[in-house]
Amino acid sequence: MHKITLITGDGTGPEIVEATRKCIDATGVKIDWDVQECGIEIIEAEGKVPDRVIESIKANKVAIKGPITTPIGKGFRSVNVYLRQELNLYACVRPCKSYKGVRTYFEDSNVDLVLIRENTEDLYAGVEFQSGDDKTAQLIKTINEFASGKKINTREDTTGVSIKPISYEGTRRIADFAFDYAIKNERKSVTSVCKANIMKFTDGLWYDETRAAALAYGAKFEWDELAEGVKPDPELVGKVADSNGNVTYMERLIDNMCMQLVQKPELYDVIVTQNLYGDILSDLCAGLVGGLGVAPGANIGTEAALFEATHGSAPKYKGQNKVNPTALILSGKMMLDYIGEREAAAKLEQAVADVIAEGKDVTYDMKPNRNDPTAVGTQEMAEAICRKMQ
Ligand code: NAD
Repeated sequence: MHKITLITGDGTGPEIVEATRKCIDATGVKIDWDVQECGIEIIEAEGKVPDRVIESIKANKVAIKGPITTPIGKGFRSVNVYLRQELNLYACVRPCKSYKGVRTYFEDSNVDLVLIRENTEDLYAGVEFQSGDDKTAQLIKTINEFASGKKINTREDTTGVSIKPISYEGTRRIADFAFDYAIKNERKSVTSVCKANIMKFTDGLWYDETRAAALAYGAKFEWDELAEGVKPDPELVGKVADSNGNVTYMERLIDNMCMQLVQKPELYDVIVTQNLYGDILSDLCAGLVGGLGVAPGANIGTEAALFEATHGSAPKYKGQNKVNPTALILSGKMMLDYIGEREAAAKLEQAVADVIAEGKDVTYDMKPNRNDPTAVGTQEMAEAICRKMQ
């Protein structure tokens, strides 16, 4: 029996959570659900995400969650960012896989890749300085005093500054996660993505460290030159699994990666990248395989793992039993894999794939015409998936 936190979310969240729970239970895996009602109404009423929700996730270590609305301009931070920080969920995992029957511009490509995004550093660290502020002007002066190369040459009082910290330890942690994931999931390659030709001290460091991690994992380098002068990361070597050359280490610059993903996505497998590049690439990858309705995700860290769809609460459809539950159900499939229930995970994924391929018991967004009267509701699609597993 697994004890798992189930966060209901708001908007269409409770509907897709109910649909997902039905499908996970239908796999036969025994789960004691620790249901935590938490959506925008509760957060507004209590002034924050209730402590009981955080405590439940910390105690159970695994949670699945419906989307939660972030009100604009009411002083609330994104609950999702808050949960990531509070639980130190440093790795965001987004699989992007084509399923037959999902309409996309890329129907003929066989996309099956996993994007692993660093969740804590980079321009998302929130270290920002507003233009016009005295401190910002002072900072710009100091930067220009210290800078040996290029300087900031716009005015001190009209320039804003955002800081991009990238550390060896943060990069090691996410690279370690990516190679470990690749080995455990029998993936062929890990592609490290950044813009090291422009940002030598942050993205250059990123490549140094992902190469060192690759060597520690016994990865085969796509080009021999990439391994020249690289030493295996001393913190990882001997402590991590040896891929025996079965995982290939590759590198791409972010701009080239975008083009390659559109032109030949089938060449890529696991992609590991920084926070901002990962944010952009994950939407690009979701677009390759059919968009938000089918894009699952997970945020994984040292204390817990939180599984959730990429999409938001789609509030305009609230209570209509209309939206597509696939993304959260596939997040549930990832959760089953994570807790070691691999057979059940495969069964659930196959059932989802079969229902989508048949195209009959699917929600409006998966029909050729969005007004198709034969579209079924959220719960009916989930029930069709459950029937496939019987
Ligand atoms: P959204 O993803 O909720 O919806 C955008 C549009 O995408 C919807 O109007 C709908 O047409 C479509 N859509 C989304 N999910 C769908 C589904 N399952 N089936 C069919 N169609 C679907 O994005 P938004 O409108 O920008 O965000 C709404 C709220 O959700 C915001 O407050 C935002 O902050 C929040 N949000 C939460 C999460 C999260 O909880 N992880 C993630 C993203 C956004």
